[in-house]
Amino acid sequence: MKFHIETWGCQMNDHDSEKLSGMLVREGHEAVGSVAEADLVLLNTCSIREKAVHKVHSQLGRLRELKAQRPLLIGVAGCLAQQEQEALFKQAPHVDFVLGTMALQQLPRLLEEAKAGRRVMDTAEYPDNHLFPPEVTQRRSTAKALVTIMEGCDHACTYCVVPTTRGPERSRPVADILDEVKLMVEQGFREVELLGQNVNSYAGGCSFAELIERVSEVDGLEWIRFTTSHPMNFTRELGRTLATNPKVAPFLHLPIQSGSNSVLKRMLRGYTVEEYLERLGYLGEARERFAISTDFIVGFPGETDEDFEGTMAVLEQVRFDASFSFIYSPRPGTPALRLSDDIPAQVKAQRLARLQKRQTELTLASHEKAVGKILEVRVESLTVTEQGHWLARTGRWENVHLTVGAGRTLPFGSLVRARITGAGPHFLRGELA
Ligand code: SF4
Repeated sequence: MKFHIETWGCQMNDHDSEKLSGMLVREGHEAVGSVAEADLVLLNTCSIREKAVHKVHSQLGRLRELKAQRPLLIGVAGCLAQQEQEALFKQAPHVDFVLGTMALQQLPRLLEEAKAGRRVMDTAEYPDNHLFPPEVTQRRSTAKALVTIMEGCDHACTYCVVPTTRGPERSRPVADILDEVKLMVEQGFREVELLGQNVNSYAGGCSFAELIERVSEVDGLEWIRFTTSHPMNFTRELGRTLATNPKVAPFLHLPIQSGSNSVLKRMLRGYTVEEYLERLGYLGEARERFAISTDFIVGFPGETDEDFEGTMAVLEQVRFDASFSFIYSPRPGTPALRLSDDIPAQVKAQRLARLQKRQTELTLASHEKAVGKILEVRVESLTVTEQGHWLARTGRWENVHLTVGAGRTLPFGSLVRARITGAGPHFLRGELA
């Protein structure tokens, strides 16, 4: 069959789609670039916020019309599949199969059953789901390779569906991860991103800090990134490793969610603002060269003006280089649903706008510090863009629009030296040094 996979959500989902694509190619199916060309459409979904769920349902609506015109198999995978399970067949009767987040390797079997006209679902928790054979993964042409180190989450943040949709924490053995990183370097990658819902609580035979040290010993590897971290599991040992290991890209995403201790308590985040700041301090002097990003939720049930001022105050105190901020979205099956969603929509929107406005100013100020410097950047685009520049990325995860001489090409995925000539809130401008 000709298949097309659409992906929503986090990098874990992006990487799962690479695995799903790899299994289909191994079975002899052909990946195509659009729904229009496909006999099989697989939606790899997200359910972290209501907005993501709406996008999936509107796409399912479009696929229903297409399926009325020609043969088309439709599968739904990812967190919405795990959350809704058989209810998805009621919501969208034209769906042929539902594949859970912990049953990825059952895709070939489900597809054969669906091709035979049976409507099937598998959302069981397969204990070896996280032990996926890396040689099967069909990687997109990116400058960095995504490497899963663990799946699931044992935390219980009251607003979050992940513990339900991704299950308990399971860590891959160190040896498997090192073998995959070596394979990635053999395939030409010089940068890896270690993935997990909470990489800091990795427990596959050593601590996360030690895992980073061992990954950094792989010859040919230049940069190591990782996501997502939880402040509760951010240790002095990890801070020291990030600060001292030269292969660790100077970028840390450490979600704080709120600057109010009473909101953090109702979120069951397990730390206070003071403890968060203390742990960020584990980076020591390296803090200066690291870019720090975070996540914020505004409008959480019971969030007072004073609570929100706490969020603005921590934004000011840390001067985050970037942040992802969202309005609280009540999620099915989460404990926060028992709390009354009492913040008026207008107030939520005003708080989000104010926070994002200040963040944009801080990001611009952070970018402006790079002007005039010569930085190592990784080439991320295969060719020059329409605007006549190459896309590259600094170690601090800053976008760089790089100008090079006419007709000159850059080696995709490799590091080049760039002189930063300008800064905007969303990217830097540079030229080859
Ligand atoms: S740490 Fe909290 S927010 Fe993050 S995935 Fe786990 S439960 Fe969700």
